[in-house]
Amino acid sequence: MPPRRSSKSRPTPERVREILDVLERTHPEARCALDYGTPFQLAVATILSAQCTDERVNMVTPHLFARYPDAPSLAAAPLADVEEVIRSTGFFRAKAKSVTGFARGLVEKHGGEVPRSIAEMVPLPGVGRKTANVVLGHAYGIEEGIAVDTHVLRVSNRLGVAEGDDPLKIEAQLMGLVPRERWTRTTDLLIFHGRKVCDARRPLCGECPLFALCGWDSRQAWAATGPRPERPARPDRATRTPAAARQPARPASAARAVRRPTARPARLRGRGGSGSGR
Ligand code: SF4
Repeated sequence: MPPRRSSKSRPTPERVREILDVLERTHPEARCALDYGTPFQLAVATILSAQCTDERVNMVTPHLFARYPDAPSLAAAPLADVEEVIRSTGFFRAKAKSVTGFARGLVEKHGGEVPRSIAEMVPLPGVGRKTANVVLGHAYGIEEGIAVDTHVLRVSNRLGVAEGDDPLKIEAQLMGLVPRERWTRTTDLLIFHGRKVCDARRPLCGECPLFALCGWDSRQAWAATGPRPERPARPDRATRTPAAARQPARPASAARAVRRPTARPARLRGRGGSGSGR
């Protein structure tokens, strides 16, 4: 279900520009987090990053690319060997088929080179629009779309600049609002913000430079609670005392008084976010 939004947060190009400007100032270090040396290697790393962290992929790809640095070598690789090398990224059998199939497709149809358009990339095994956008934008500087992963989808919904849970529809909405020259950068900034601030389970709304521009109704409650300490594990029924077991559970809403943060935390001051706590 899409998050509840404030009625004031209409998705307009001006609002999106302001959001991206704030993110650009706040997260200038936002970059594609995957390590690669060539467009082919970025495509393989992106395929491996499905359901896996970029850090884990970056641990695996040096070994993979040492053995199979380009499309011809990976296309000829024994499947079992590729599976073994990429095992720790999860879903390794399916991913091994995808990356070797992708390499074979490049060799058979594109002379071993990664093509420069979404139309040519998407028919290749293991490649969807997200992977194609990542490779075109970062390896070639071609802005043909906006890569939408789980962070881009969640953050754009919460901010109120796109709505829905279909990445293709979110991409189309963002493309209608963001100037073309900022499409690749939009992905980097929203992913970075989603990882560092707008966490799926514990968004740091009280420290968020986009607080004043965000359309998510629940942000005020999250700002009031702030980052929450890890809770100790709840005792299960068998180990709770009878007196504790009789206590009714405290409703979550009682713990979240709704109020606006009054000041921007010191550690984010001076990082350029103009929308802090306004
Ligand atoms: S205010 Fe909260 S929900 Fe909105 S972008 Fe910031 S962290 Fe995410």
